[in-house]
Amino acid sequence: MREKGKNIKGPIAVTRSSLPPLEEYVEMLKPLWESAWLTNMGDYHEELKRQLKIYLKTQNLELFVNGHMALELALQALGLKGEVITTPFSFASTTHAIVRNGLTPVFGDIDPENYTLDAERLEDRITENTCAILPVHVYGNLCDVDRIQEIADRHGLKVIYDAAHTFGEELDGRGVAELGDLSMFSFHATKVFHSIEGGAVSYRDPGLADRLYQLKNFGIMNSESVEYVGANGKMNEFQAAMGLCNLRHIDQEIAKRKRLADHYRKRLSNTEGICLCSENPRVRSNYAYMPVVFDGYKKNRDQVFEELARADIHARKYFYPCINSYACYRGLFDEKETPVAARISRQVLTLPLYAELDPEIVDRICDLILV
Ligand SMILES: *Cc1c(COP(=O)(O)O)cnc(C)c1O
Repeated sequence: MREKGKNIKGPIAVTRSSLPPLEEYVEMLKPLWESAWLTNMGDYHEELKRQLKIYLKTQNLELFVNGHMALELALQALGLKGEVITTPFSFASTTHAIVRNGLTPVFGDIDPENYTLDAERLEDRITENTCAILPVHVYGNLCDVDRIQEIADRHGLKVIYDAAHTFGEELDGRGVAELGDLSMFSFHATKVFHSIEGGAVSYRDPGLADRLYQLKNFGIMNSESVEYVGANGKMNEFQAAMGLCNLRHIDQEIAKRKRLADHYRKRLSNTEGICLCSENPRVRSNYAYMPVVFDGYKKNRDQVFEELARADIHARKYFYPCINSYACYRGLFDEKETPVAARISRQVLTLPLYAELDPEIVDRICDLILV
């Protein structure tokens, strides 16, 4: 038994990137020095794509330099015009991708239980200009996907999921990559699975393959023809190599996260004023985040945040503020239109959670919260 309190020195961040054994990565670099093929859809790029299709259980997948670029180019690939209904309770990327495509975001409120776009009230936001719905599987909590699809079908709308938090999750044994018209995954260093920076788009219509591929390569069709106003969204070989290494260990990583998440749950559930997301038995979870909502607890979110910070434990106000109150969108939106999102963003804290986190630190965090 390790002594209580040991190993609790030094700052604890909300997350810490997983790394494969160094030798594994170095081994992967050798062929790159031989071929000198460093980017532009090299062997590792193709191999990662192949393996991810299997892991994510999807037929159609394209890799990108990061998740944001994947989302931005996915929206461009669909050739959308008009309004896109989305959630203000997300990372900046979700709405920025809409705006940077010349589309208009329209914010719907979130479900008070799982914090994803509230499907019940989604239809109120649809106008004759609506072209798509862009919901987010927040913290890995799946959206009400059946309801959203039913509404989208009835109104002829595209559904694009921001699945940045949902790597490897399954619903009734089906990969989440199969949901909607398109899903975007992020492989950023802070995510459950990463390629340092990186991302992917899974898609239903195989007809999108060429367009997605060309859009991430400046819209170049062939050496003499440029068909689209594309961007540079290519994943390079060093990223793909990291992805391939990390993919070998992903199931153990998720298992470690699960143990820690269960530990948090055991300590924090059944405490008046502390709300944890309920677990959905239909979903194979990836335990990406440990969100806790303080609603009527003896301490509010900001107090808990400060107390943890004084102990050099750095939780994250994620997501705060809501996107519809960002300075860059000032005057365009009103956070009051999405009161649930506004409230949750002031009550939520994501606690440190990563595979190598010491369970003793989980106890220490819970002690600090519960005292
Ligand atoms: C991480 C993240 C993104 C952006 O992904 P990057 O790979 O960092 O570009 C988009 N949406 C959400 C919800 C995210 O958490």
